[in-house]
Amino acid sequence: MEIIIPAVIAHGGAGPGPNRQENLEVAVQKAANILKSGGNALEAAVEACVILEDDPVFNAGTGSVIRTDGSVLTDASIQIGDGRVGFVIAMEDTPNPIRVAADLLDEEINGLTSEGARIWADNRGHQRSKVAGRSPEGQIGDINTEIMGDTVGVIARDSSGMIVVATSTGGCSFRPPGRVGDVPLPGSGFWAEDCLAVAATGIGEAITRALLSNKVYERIKNEEVSLEDSMEWGIRTLISPEHSVGLIALGSTGAGIGVANTDMPWATWEAESNG
Ligand code: ASP
Repeated sequence: MEIIIPAVIAHGGAGPGPNRQENLEVAVQKAANILKSGGNALEAAVEACVILEDDPVFNAGTGSVIRTDGSVLTDASIQIGDGRVGFVIAMEDTPNPIRVAADLLDEEINGLTSEGARIWADNRGHQRSKVAGRSPEGQIGDINTEIMGDTVGVIARDSSGMIVVATSTGGCSFRPPGRVGDVPLPGSGFWAEDCLAVAATGIGEAITRALLSNKVYERIKNEEVSLEDSMEWGIRTLISPEHSVGLIALGSTGAGIGVANTDMPWATWEAESNG
């Protein structure tokens, strides 16, 4: 019987660079501890994502950027290699949208948006609390026009071969309240199928136009191109260079890897090599 080695990879967004590395390592370590103690990939991906949502340096959950009207709206998505998916869009007062998305995995309706999403979350007992939001400089309440992309994503693989991708964001900065980015759109911001998953970060409109995560997934799967080569191909050929975009991927063997056309922090762990 094939032995599958647990692994995890996380990114801290397209652009913010190495100063987010330690924050990412905390989340990866959390997922690693869950996997080492026999927890599954779903739990590992969600709990790592929650750590990143709770860390105000990232544009997700608590640290989400303010939209042009002063609102703070969060998106999140989760997909399992077995085909289950859950996603939420533009949720108000929701510091951990990934928990709501995960709760949708086994529902007939697997995607919810705005007020309806929040009402559903209330009925399920998900935390509702104000997310203060921040400007790109990190100051509460001060809106400016600089685009930032330090959203978060995690992929975890467990010893059963289950693979899970979880992504979460406050959206690109200086976007209007009704805007939908790539993060909650299957195939754009994320794709997981069988034991291979891809997650994207960066300018959501460019990622969505390219159906980037799915296209990269298909190339790895069907053309047997390596994770790295396929991600490089995707960014080089499907994204125009003025758009900051990054990708992470994890397959059934080996460690995960990240590729970006900008300075994207990413961190990885694999059971055998790192203990
Ligand atoms: N892709 C996200 C969005 O467009 C932003 C990001 O990755 O930072 O909403």
